[in-house]
Amino acid sequence: MKPLSMPPAEPTRQAGGASAALISAVTALHAPASLTNSPTLPSAHTPPLPDSAAGTDAVPLGVAATIPLEETLVCEQREAFVRGWELYNAHDCVSFGAEGDSLTLSVSAGGQSSCSFDVGILFPDPWSVVLSEKVRRFDMGLLPLLSLLHEVDLIELPHTPGLPYLEGVRVAHRYANNDLLHQLWVTPFGPFPGADDLHNTRLFNLLETEHKCIFMYSESPPRDARTHRGAPLPPVRRRRKRNVMRGAAVLIRALPLPPPPSSPPCACASAGCRFSVHTRHYLSSANGFANYCCAACRDGKRYHDASCQRYTYNAAAPPPWEAPRYGLVDVELFATICLPVPRWLIPNALIRWAIPRILRMNYGYFFKLNDQFDNSQFAQRVREDSHGFYRGLPWEEIPGGGESLLRERRAC
Ligand SMILES: [Zn+2]
Ligand SMILES: [Zn+2]
Repeated sequence: MKPLSMPPAEPTRQAGGASAALISAVTALHAPASLTNSPTLPSAHTPPLPDSAAGTDAVPLGVAATIPLEETLVCEQREAFVRGWELYNAHDCVSFGAEGDSLTLSVSAGGQSSCSFDVGILFPDPWSVVLSEKVRRFDMGLLPLLSLLHEVDLIELPHTPGLPYLEGVRVAHRYANNDLLHQLWVTPFGPFPGADDLHNTRLFNLLETEHKCIFMYSESPPRDARTHRGAPLPPVRRRRKRNVMRGAAVLIRALPLPPPPSSPPCACASAGCRFSVHTRHYLSSANGFANYCCAACRDGKRYHDASCQRYTYNAAAPPPWEAPRYGLVDVELFATICLPVPRWLIPNALIRWAIPRILRMNYGYFFKLNDQFDNSQFAQRVREDSHGFYRGLPWEEIPGGGESLLRERRAC
């Protein structure tokens, strides 16, 4: 591997160089066997990525991309992603045989956030799950989210008793700056044994293309592999099991924020409330919070909820409108995962109970990081590596703190 201080390596674009393992992972992602006879997929949904002919504009993120990810591989991954979304969009009209082998969930982040999660889960056979997720208005800027994906060892997610949590993540091997082998540990939960997983994650910059997104692709080495692409693999920890991701494709897009209203924040619309409305201007009146200090006032409850800012309304000195410091993103994910236990051990009721709680448990961490990113260790790493992995980002366009980071970046 080249050190990060080396001059930029021009990506070489070779055709036909994709490894057999990757091709098989991608093929596995395309369609579970039981879906091959599914009805014609509806054409109303436009795939988020183009056909493989337009694959030449994907570039690796970062400088030291010594394994530049062959053009054919990028095309295959895009194709897998498109097929994944076709499946996702079609799954209401696809029969899986046994009843209850698919379910969908819609979860809102709660509080003052307008973020929502739409999760689709399919069990094409007893030992696999196909997972799709659309996250809208995630309170996390592109830059903080990218640093979370690259500086994984800094992640410290919260714990709640009774729910599984991420014990730790590390980079087990660095093939290239945008091509990492992540190792992560998750506590046991219900029928699931604790996890000690390895995922090879690659990140591509498509921001300069018509898609304007970051594209991430992950897959695991085979369950009992001792090495992966030449790197030795660590043994599984005691009382842990290694889960296998057959393929996961993720798209991350930064959202434009609406400009703040021309008039300052007004008083809460709830009778008798002395506070002003919540000052996060991007909260549209569509989610019902825009006229109130918090959801409790909107719903006529007696006590203000945790997200209430409690700014006493003063027409002479109104507080300023606020935007999320680094903006918001939309995230789309599609993954095929081998289950550590058979499907019949995982009741739908457990899934419906656990997923909203796990999402809400972790949401506050992201929300906070977006606001306090500049003082975080993640921002420190971004500064140190701004001419490396983070080199290709549109720094001038990153809202809020992007400008100050850019200044520091120019200075060094
Ligand atoms: Zn109020
Ligand atoms: Zn309130």
